Amino acid sequence: MGDLHARLEEVDRRIAEAARAAGRDPSELTRIVVTKFHPASLVEDLYRLGVRDVGENRQQEFSRKAAEVAHLDGLRWHFIGQAQTNKARAIRAAASVVHSVDRAKLADALHAAADADDPVLDVLLQVNLTDDPGRGGAAPGDLAALAEHAAGLPTLRLRGVMAVAPLDEPPAAAFERLRRCADTVRAVVPAADWMSAGMTADFAEAIAAGATHLRIGSAITGPRPERG
Ligand SMILES: *Cc1c(COP(=O)(O)O)cnc(C)c1O
Repeated sequence: MGDLHARLEEVDRRIAEAARAAGRDPSELTRIVVTKFHPASLVEDLYRLGVRDVGENRQQEFSRKAAEVAHLDGLRWHFIGQAQTNKARAIRAAASVVHSVDRAKLADALHAAADADDPVLDVLLQVNLTDDPGRGGAAPGDLAALAEHAAGLPTLRLRGVMAVAPLDEPPAAAFERLRRCADTVRAVVPAADWMSAGMTADFAEAIAAGATHLRIGSAITGPRPERG
């Protein structure tokens, strides 16, 4: 717990430093702690340290962990992984935000999974910044149409874009492309001004490019245990 606290404080210090260097106010940034492969007890430890935004990328692990810590009041789960349409109901049941909407069918499935009294679900459109169509995310050229589609689904609120920087390119250049993708989405939905970008290795570059939501795992949680 002492180490966790120290790592969290150190990352928050670096976030604030990167924000100030970019002329931005650190308080406009949401730091999401990615807890994948770690036990639910880590989420409880983070909660005790004041963390309210946590993220997972695999549906089964996400659903199980969210149920285990359902007693933590005000905890917000961000689903950040590839999602199958037949898991939309399970994802919607526990997520406050889904960062990884990358096709119309998934948006439709998340919309169809809403119960009558469900709150509106915040969604981001994931963009594929690589040349490999097998990677998660919509192609930048498909984004405007996907935004139009998502904007027409009344149980979803389109909030912006999300991406993972490619490994074979400096992150600043990739995040600059993401920023233009964010402009594309905002041309469809002007209020959709979130940009989810930045992980352990590249959050300073993401902040410089305009990220509003950082998804940080190992710098805070420590190395991930072997995936089970
Ligand atoms: C695991 C993961 C992260 C966090 O990665 P770290 O390098 O540990 O900070 C962020 N985003 C996504 C989509 C992830 O799967």
